[in-house]
Amino acid sequence: MAESTHFGSRDVPLEDKQGMVDDVFHSVARRYDLMNDLMSLGLHRAWKDALVTAVNPPKSGPFALLDIAGGTGDIAFRVIDAGGAATRATVCDINTDMLDIGRARAAARGRGEVVSFIEANAEALPFADKRFDAATIAFGIRNVPRIEQALAEAYRVLKIGGRFLCLEFSAVDVPGLDRLYDFYSFNVIPRLGRVVAGDAESYRYLVESIRRFPNPQSFAAMLRTTGFARVSFQPLSGGIVALHSGWRL
Ligand code: SAM
Repeated sequence: MAESTHFGSRDVPLEDKQGMVDDVFHSVARRYDLMNDLMSLGLHRAWKDALVTAVNPPKSGPFALLDIAGGTGDIAFRVIDAGGAATRATVCDINTDMLDIGRARAAARGRGEVVSFIEANAEALPFADKRFDAATIAFGIRNVPRIEQALAEAYRVLKIGGRFLCLEFSAVDVPGLDRLYDFYSFNVIPRLGRVVAGDAESYRYLVESIRRFPNPQSFAAMLRTTGFARVSFQPLSGGIVALHSGWRL
């Protein structure tokens, strides 16, 4: 029997998931950044800032970041702003529409020289071993069909001493907040998606896919199995999001 996985709340053949995910992000690309602000009530900015604080790019000397599933470049721009003049960021994403918006944003910010955008699958990164000081993935890993493969690739391209950081929706652990969060996720977000992006279904997938993602302890165990050392995670905003960290030592 063919291997299966989940696409939102549905079980689908493993081979079919990536195409379905790609359709979602082709559909939402144009409104992606606006929808992030609306859906998260601006909180995604604080979550991304927490990730960038952990990346901690140096103020002097070279630093190479790989932002996997980096979409429209949010993490890359923040790391460039936080680091010194020799900080460079590579955004890789499987979706040309998301990357095109990222490239336009980089040009508008005068960051075209220091941020590069590369179309690539997180499961097969087109980079040499031990090339990057840090590898990040924000709200991307749950969309990748073969998560273990993507983690192994992130590990491979990190230098020894490099750090992997993953920001992802997680399991709300505050009584009361969980019910409010469920109501908001399943009722408000798809409606917002319909009104703002003309697409309720894609936003329903995004909400459902959060529920199918491993809990933070299980995801931390996956990082350890990949080979990452000193694995830890930090829940943010009552567990709406978790920031996982691991080192290649
Ligand atoms: N990291 C960005 C951010 O935080 O704003 C974008 C996150 S967006 C929710 C998820 C991204 O994952 C999309 O841009 C999508 O194209 C990308 N993606 C999905 N599957 C991927 C894969 N296999 N390899 C690389 N990128 C992938």
